[in-house]
Amino acid sequence: MLLDQLLTMSYELERRVAIDAVLMAARLCERVRKSMPQAIAKNDKSPVTIADYGSQALICRAIAAAFPDDAIIAEEDAAALNEDNHLLAQATDSVREFIPEATPERVINWIGLGSSTGADRFWTLDPIDGTKGFLRDDQYAVALALIENGQVQLGVLACPSYPAEGGRGALFVAIRGGGASMTPIGSDMSHGLKVVAGGDTERLRFVESVESGHGDQSRQAAIAQAVGITAPSLRMDSQAKYAAVANGEAVLYLRLPSPKTPDYREKIWDHAAGVLVVEEAGGKVTDMFGQPLDFSQGAKLTQNQGTVVSNGVIHQTVIEAIAALS
Ligand code: AMP
Ligand code: MG
Repeated sequence: MLLDQLLTMSYELERRVAIDAVLMAARLCERVRKSMPQAIAKNDKSPVTIADYGSQALICRAIAAAFPDDAIIAEEDAAALNEDNHLLAQATDSVREFIPEATPERVINWIGLGSSTGADRFWTLDPIDGTKGFLRDDQYAVALALIENGQVQLGVLACPSYPAEGGRGALFVAIRGGGASMTPIGSDMSHGLKVVAGGDTERLRFVESVESGHGDQSRQAAIAQAVGITAPSLRMDSQAKYAAVANGEAVLYLRLPSPKTPDYREKIWDHAAGVLVVEEAGGKVTDMFGQPLDFSQGAKLTQNQGTVVSNGVIHQTVIEAIAALS
């Protein structure tokens, strides 16, 4: 009983279930990615789709098995699979490599577990964050977070292309109040993460999305300049950007609304895990007005616009620069 209570308080069971599920999903994604035809036609998203569905099925199944009462808000739904038998068969095959009892019906059911709209306690999942990076053999992430009463308590990011000691692939884990760590995938040598406070001005970097439509790159460059960052930006897909700030490769991640979609509201699964990894590494995350991100509004951050992720030290200066350049 005492052990049960301790496990509950420390989120140890949640941490173990989440890490195992996310790592298995990352292996599924890498297998699908490696089996992709060399050249993918621009509109052919099927390899992405198979891996998205496979990843979501594996993770939702694992959460439901360990925490049957927990809600899950995940990016995908099974609608397209219900209409496309070939896609469903391929997604099922990808899952069966890890879960032998997978059937098409079960895969549809597991994916459907991610269709909650919210609860006091819920998980949020992006089965493949950064699909463009996935297709380019570049950065992407499997992102899972646990949210209780609007607060992110646990964040797990698997980034299969992230540079790490001994090769490629890193796992980032954060528990509220318990710090953040990075572990090369396939190793058990984890180390604590700490943002960098400052340093040589020429070496300070900021990070932003590769996709020009997911931000405002010209305004982002102007703000970085205004706060003394002179080096060109690092461009990365997915929440690997949060990892880069937590790991000290960048001091700032800017995501201001694109002029093409000025009213865009960010999705919680694109941020929740990354936010806790950065905060637990000593950094700060707010929207572009300096307000905390509000994860209690369902699938979208309806109360926020844009995101500013920093080492903490420069945060207020960045928020002021955004206001001044509006
Ligand atoms: P990134 O890899 O940082 O470019 O972010 C990928 C995520 O951007 C996707 O998962 C989408 O949910 C999200 N996204 C889609 N459209 C927009 C938009 N107009 N502005 C910001 N983010 C977007
Ligand atoms: Mg995403």
